[in-house]
Amino acid sequence: MGLQQFRTESKRLLDLMVNSIYTHKEIFLRELISNASDAIDKLYYRELDSGTAGMSKEDFYIRVDLDKEKRTLTVSDNGCGMTSEELRQNLGTIADSGTLRFRQERREKGEGADEAETIGQFGVGFYAAFMVARRVTVTSRAFDGDGAYAWQSEGAEGFSVKKAEKDGVGTQIVLELKDDTEDEHYSEFLEPYRIQQLVKKYSDYIRFPIRMEMEHSRPLEKKEGEEQRYETYTELETLNSMVPIWKRGKSELQDEDYDTFYREKFYDYEKPLKVIHTSAEGAVSYTALLFLPARAPFDYYTKDFEKGLQLYSNGVMIMQKCGDLLPDHFSFARGIVDSPDLSLNISREMLQHDRQLKIIATNIEKKIKNELMSMLLSSREEYEKLWKAFGLQIKFGVYSGYGQNKELLQDLLLFHSMDGDKLVTLKEYFDAMKESQPAIYYASGESAARIGQLPQLDRLRELKYDVLFLTDDVDEFALQMLREYGEKPFKSVSAGDLDIGDAEEKKQAEEKTEENKALLDAMKEALGARVKAVRLSTRLKRHAVCLTADGALSIEMEKVLNHMPNENKAKAERVLEINPAHDVFQKLLRIYEDDREKLPAYAEILYTQAQLMEGLLPDDPGKYAETVSGLLFSV
Ligand code: ADP
Repeated sequence: MGLQQFRTESKRLLDLMVNSIYTHKEIFLRELISNASDAIDKLYYRELDSGTAGMSKEDFYIRVDLDKEKRTLTVSDNGCGMTSEELRQNLGTIADSGTLRFRQERREKGEGADEAETIGQFGVGFYAAFMVARRVTVTSRAFDGDGAYAWQSEGAEGFSVKKAEKDGVGTQIVLELKDDTEDEHYSEFLEPYRIQQLVKKYSDYIRFPIRMEMEHSRPLEKKEGEEQRYETYTELETLNSMVPIWKRGKSELQDEDYDTFYREKFYDYEKPLKVIHTSAEGAVSYTALLFLPARAPFDYYTKDFEKGLQLYSNGVMIMQKCGDLLPDHFSFARGIVDSPDLSLNISREMLQHDRQLKIIATNIEKKIKNELMSMLLSSREEYEKLWKAFGLQIKFGVYSGYGQNKELLQDLLLFHSMDGDKLVTLKEYFDAMKESQPAIYYASGESAARIGQLPQLDRLRELKYDVLFLTDDVDEFALQMLREYGEKPFKSVSAGDLDIGDAEEKKQAEEKTEENKALLDAMKEALGARVKAVRLSTRLKRHAVCLTADGALSIEMEKVLNHMPNENKAKAERVLEINPAHDVFQKLLRIYEDDREKLPAYAEILYTQAQLMEGLLPDDPGKYAETVSGLLFSV
């Protein structure tokens, strides 16, 4: 009998798989083991129904055997097996066009690059064997069939089916591995430890034992004066742990169980701050086991970090990191999602996967938000620890996507403030505000200590208005995105108009500005384009001068923006404010009257002083030094 041909779709898929530069060849084992488990399921359920084969659950198993000499890897099961007709039908066709169609659509849209990825994620079934094998022989005996048959193929050319010998019901699949090349080392699949590792990675929660002969050594009895000798022996071991922790009831699990699982699975040496174990039934059923880590991985804030949860379908791992399951602002969460609704079978429509994933992702986002909120309210210390590690990411979340998540995230934010050493939420700040306070004030700078010294805080301190201290680059951008909280606008302490003081006070200030217009204009002229104006201040008490900004762009934001590789430099509209109640102001008035040619030097020094307070260097340090010396040491 000659070779029978594969159906066309199968041929195309085979082609694609074998020829694509596929990085996850290892998944072939997962596919074969999943098939074996399905086959056992079929017989097992039948057994439960009719009891005809006289087998119980303990009798079922999957075996992996390695033979280095023959270069074969064999997967066997004692499941339902296949008749000769089924061998032809099931292994001669991939009764699927969904994936191929999906792939074609993507290719038409020019998104073909990750087609191999897609297939790898959703399972390719039996054909994956050809990624590593030059010849595959499937010998099978169906439970109610007429003896055993062997199906054999060397890939796309076709296959044959012949009568064969086999004891017992079930299927045995022998892969004759390809020869190693410079780039591909198929021999790795002949190493017991590699196989053990792959089973752990992908198939740890298969419900039936997966067994393999493992080699061990033990010390031989030692005789006087002899060296210690060892003997090797093999032992049939079960490689998989079978019951996933998330499938066990919450009531039978201790904190310790979760912690151990977390540390082993995610290689963290610290235990998680929070464990979220949740299940849902309904439109989509799933179980999620999530962990909020206590510290950020070293690459968390780099572009190398990849977010995502492990995705399982009925205990079989189908994706190591499913990014779609986590929003960026909670990308620090780790864990697994297991959903029976996500089938390994590629015949499922991909679009449907998308829809189900989206539902799960939305639920998970809500769940994490709620957990964070309850942590914030009832275990503040732990929340602050988390905030220290991941707060920056949450703040980015407020700002990014044009603020589309700002409502979700705003109550999770924490800030330092003028009012002591603790962190406050926006709500806490808001609740402590006086009725008359017109805005939520904030000040930016390098550190809380540094900000605490800003001259702009003088008046607010006197009024007992608290001020949020912003120390991260993103902070001010995030607050601008929020715009307001509880209908109170956010306002920078350096904003042109602070909106403080009563009407009388304002009027006085305006009158005083008018009176001293000539002096202020002269100073503005001396400073040129560097400032938009020189004004008298209502916000200063102790200090003589400060810099403020008109318009939306603050000096702090200017700094941040100009750190980025932009062509156009941002420029805040700077205003030099002078405290009219300060001795310095009296001195300026005198100089303006008696010694006017020295005024530019004084303007220069005061402007630079205000800049230094903002953490900015002098525009021209040399000139600044000269000016100071000129005034101090002139004879
Ligand atoms: P899928 O498992 O996604 O249906 P596969 O290509 O992996 O696709 O397998 C095709 C079919 O071959 C399976 O649906 C099953 O009926 C049959 N099959 C594969 N492996 C086995 C096995 N070990 N025992 C019995 N039947 C099997």
